[in-house]
Amino acid sequence: MNKIGNFREGNEDRLPVPVYGNSPTYQMALKQLESVAECAGVDAGIINRLAIPKRAIVVSIPIRMDDGSLQVFSGYRVQHSLTSGPSKGGLRYHPSVDLGEVAALSMWMSWKCGIMNLPFGGGKGGIACDPELLSLGEKERLTRRFTEEILCVIGPRMDVMAPDLGTDEQTMAWIMDTYSMKVGYACPEIVTGKPVEIGGCLGRREATGRGVTFCILEALKELAIAPQDSTAIVQGFGNVGSVTCLELVKKGMRVVGVGDRHGSLYNPQGIDVVALQQHIAGGKPLVSFPGGKPIDNSELLTMPCTVLVPAALERVITAKNATELKCKILAEAANGPTTPEADPILLAKNIFIIPDILCNAGGVTVSYFEWVQDIQQFLWSEEQVNQKLQELMLKAYARVRETAREKKITMRMAALTLGVQKVAREKIHRGLYP
Ligand code: GLU
Repeated sequence: MNKIGNFREGNEDRLPVPVYGNSPTYQMALKQLESVAECAGVDAGIINRLAIPKRAIVVSIPIRMDDGSLQVFSGYRVQHSLTSGPSKGGLRYHPSVDLGEVAALSMWMSWKCGIMNLPFGGGKGGIACDPELLSLGEKERLTRRFTEEILCVIGPRMDVMAPDLGTDEQTMAWIMDTYSMKVGYACPEIVTGKPVEIGGCLGRREATGRGVTFCILEALKELAIAPQDSTAIVQGFGNVGSVTCLELVKKGMRVVGVGDRHGSLYNPQGIDVVALQQHIAGGKPLVSFPGGKPIDNSELLTMPCTVLVPAALERVITAKNATELKCKILAEAANGPTTPEADPILLAKNIFIIPDILCNAGGVTVSYFEWVQDIQQFLWSEEQVNQKLQELMLKAYARVRETAREKKITMRMAALTLGVQKVAREKIHRGLYP
């Protein structure tokens, strides 16, 4: 086998388990890395380096709440790799955020940037909080204080954040302003996914959902299923889930099920997703939309459909429910939605998986376009952005598909192989310092 690096037989001890060890999500990321090491031909020393993020910062964030009380939140930023450029990745506001989860997500960002050939390492951040329970003012104070606390490790050449679950363009605008006030000049390249008026990129908000749709269309083509004859179920109706629904409908598909954390809807005739989006924009809950029958959240994933799109949290498809899935294609718009225990079950059911680190890579790809434009102060049109996004997504899809065929491995293993190999090669070229 063609091994990358200086592989020494007998040095295949289990991966080291640092402070992130107890988190099931970090364990899952480690398991994936371990499982791909041999296939990727990467030596144990490099795998050990890749198993532990380069650095992590944990901060306490005290803020004044609207009622005058003081509350302290925990915030995290993990930089998995800085080998080929700044670390890059989202900032998540969610009650389940912890250091291990953020570490796993940062590792997946490294593989994702590797597959897409972007000059970034992986990074991820988060604050353990429930954004639905915070006022706009509280969110602003939380974001600005968090930015202040991690100022020593961020920078346009060091670590560039973007939106993720529970954060949005406004969050990025506050980070950009806080950082710019500190350095004394406007610094749009400190974050991506900002409002277009302050250096955001046209098409960035839709990019992840568009990328997911390109991948789904490729998979349908391969299975010889016409979009017009296929149905989709989408779990999550945030930025990624809602744009994916809209894009799939534009391609002629029927979205028969949608859900968010409060409930799900099903309608075999197809849900009017444009009307649903307006309903939600009017401040009403998804489940109260009249165009579908309310169903249990656990039922949503197991209803029959052509394409199932988990677009919310990680670890929702497990050994428990994998046997119940009734889709032909699983398009992983979320990060880490499928546990390693569920993978063999899905394989046995012949479900075609478009793995997360490929499927949702459209977001960070257009983040890269945004960063480049901000640095060059040279703006692209939305057509240029979308066309380049499509080109890069299709190339990456083809590379992963080709690797899977050549090595006779699953799409997940192929995607991990390409991502891990890219980061491993970067590390080998740079060598060890000192
Ligand atoms: N949070 C997104 C992701 O998980 C986007 C990251 C970025 O644009 O930097 O890929």
